[in-house]
Amino acid sequence: MRVLVVEDDPTLLVQLGAALGNAGYAVDEAADGRDGLHLGLTEPYDAIVLDLGLPVLDGLTVLQRWRQQGRTTPVLILTARDGWHEKVAGIDAGADDYLTKPFHTEELLARLRALVRRSHGLASPLLRCGDVTLDTRAGTVTLAGATVSLTAHEYRLLAYLMHRAGQVVSRSELVEHLYAQDFDRDSNTIEVFVGRLRRKLGAERIETVRGLGYRLVPPEAHPATR
Ligand code: CA
Repeated sequence: MRVLVVEDDPTLLVQLGAALGNAGYAVDEAADGRDGLHLGLTEPYDAIVLDLGLPVLDGLTVLQRWRQQGRTTPVLILTARDGWHEKVAGIDAGADDYLTKPFHTEELLARLRALVRRSHGLASPLLRCGDVTLDTRAGTVTLAGATVSLTAHEYRLLAYLMHRAGQVVSRSELVEHLYAQDFDRDSNTIEVFVGRLRRKLGAERIETVRGLGYRLVPPEAHPATR
């Protein structure tokens, strides 16, 4: 999952970037409204954290422009402590959730997880595909009840596929959602990570759909086990 953080407080921006990175997100950052507007219009984020008080272009205007141009990315706004009117204006402008500063990182992470899963039509923080279970809260994966040890990159890839279980996901979509903008993107690395996940979970679980991409399938749906 890839997120954008638009925040002009440099300390908070660094803290948020680190916390989101540790939580397994690829993170892009913008320190003013103009850069944030541009990134939000051009990159396919899974969620955006948007401060409202921003230089150059305020957060509310940024949000309105994203929505006017049809961007449906889930947006969580950061508001001032007593800014109830900001919350109302933000939600009316198309925000999906808000947090009042100062906030606990854990709460931000929980709200983001909820926004991302709801945008995929999922209600539970536990994602299941056959006997593979991914706990988005703990960042853990089990196979038939046994813990599977995954690297951060493997987890990130599996989490994306689990959110899209049963659907074909192209390699370019995976690259766009798994790596930050400044990351040296090479779609061949996706193939490498898919290979590692297959070794750990069973080769049949990630189907290659020729010319289109990959599909995570429950074991019973695969031709080899029918
Ligand atoms: Ca601010």
